[in-house]
Amino acid sequence: MANLLFFPQPFPDESLYSLAVRYHKLAANQGYRATSQELFGSYSRTCGSILPCCLEALSERLRGAFSVGELIERFTLLPLFLPFLDDEKGRDAAVLMGGNRGTGLKMALGITASRFLQHASFRYCESCVREDILECGSAYWHRIHQASGTCICPRHSEVLQAIRFPGCSDWRCMLLPGESAGTPVMDCGDHSGAVAIAHMQLWGLDHPNEMKTILAGNLLRNRLDEMGFIRSGRIREQMLRDFLTRRLRCSPSAAEFEEMVRSAEWVFQILRRQGRTVQPFKFYFLCWLLDLELEHLNTYRLEDVNRAGIVVRPDEPNNIIPDDDLHARRIAFAKSTNLKCHDKPGYQWLYRHDREWLARYVAGNPYHRDRRILIDWQSRDSALALELAKAKTMILSVDGKPQQVTRAALCRRVLNAHAFLKMPDHFPMSTTLMAGLLESTHDHQLRKIRWAIREYSLTENCAMSVLYRYAGIRISRVSEDEVFTQIRDDMD
Ligand SMILES: [Zn+2]
Repeated sequence: MANLLFFPQPFPDESLYSLAVRYHKLAANQGYRATSQELFGSYSRTCGSILPCCLEALSERLRGAFSVGELIERFTLLPLFLPFLDDEKGRDAAVLMGGNRGTGLKMALGITASRFLQHASFRYCESCVREDILECGSAYWHRIHQASGTCICPRHSEVLQAIRFPGCSDWRCMLLPGESAGTPVMDCGDHSGAVAIAHMQLWGLDHPNEMKTILAGNLLRNRLDEMGFIRSGRIREQMLRDFLTRRLRCSPSAAEFEEMVRSAEWVFQILRRQGRTVQPFKFYFLCWLLDLELEHLNTYRLEDVNRAGIVVRPDEPNNIIPDDDLHARRIAFAKSTNLKCHDKPGYQWLYRHDREWLARYVAGNPYHRDRRILIDWQSRDSALALELAKAKTMILSVDGKPQQVTRAALCRRVLNAHAFLKMPDHFPMSTTLMAGLLESTHDHQLRKIRWAIREYSLTENCAMSVLYRYAGIRISRVSEDEVFTQIRDDMD
């Protein structure tokens, strides 16, 4: 066995396949076969998988720079699955990934049965590609982008692109993102659900132990309880089913979501813990259906950590919790007068440990929704207006073929787009500004023509049809005079 003479320095959240591709390029190998032989000592069929095998061989060739466990933890998606597996299944999966075959791994983890594999693709975010090239010197495959159900980049909130490998080839042609054309994995439209799910998946991938604690704390059941879907310890099935049917209609419009919007049966399978291993994507999707977001996971975990230090039995609510602690929590809860009771800090903790006080407090201090206090729309509006103006500058300064300044393109780059699109009345300043920021097709075409003239050094002799093709214009909205003016201006 030969040690590797070099190996790329891993980038943040880089997948093992990405490292193999970068190694392949540095080694200037002719084909994947040679690279696989050098990295794994055999022909690995799983190098492009989210759960690659042959990791023991790789670890040995790296002279222990990364143990098998570290390779799994840092460069594969197994940590996303681990919280949903019992210890034995988790260990078995790691053993299979260490070995050379991996047969049955996806079956054992329920991935094959989930049917998500048919929607799998090699995904990247265009903004990540640009930033990675600037920051790291190379684009690379991000691990989280490859997880089923992640259709949006959690960092940029942009729809991911699926690469189209040239010809009939697959991942074995060893390309990095941006080296072949891609297609968006989701339609345009409201992405807020997909964004929330992507954020939760990324957090889950980075915090498998915390996720395990959350699952042990029975987050979903507590949420159902809070939402009134549990009575006398039983799920109110019809009521929940009606709710889910309505909620599923607002699901993100990507192929893998369509697998799940047809029926809510899978939700009940998760809740009853029936059948196979829960797919992380299904769990986070269900969280979103129940209006849980990343913040809830974070708070729930902290409350569980707090609870872990003190043994509390439900029938003895607070006699073993230090008085100071209890007092501090009650004060923090009572102080947040502008929040609904479920959203106040420490609600879940108080619900579990100090329910009598909580019930008394809530009964004595009913919540009055006061929009003026709840949300300062005016400052949101002015912040959004500023962001929109910045977004326009960003769009205009993008390298390559000019993008049109459209409503959708602007909204993709700002934080409060969802609220803005749903409640335009709250954003008068931004609405007026937006109208002035938009670019007409005519102006956009002129910019594309200007760009094509410079990019391809076109002159007056160039046929109009050629110029339009370079500029990517099918139906012209500019006059020939305007085009000639552009060419002459450019030559001056
Ligand atoms: Zn990104």
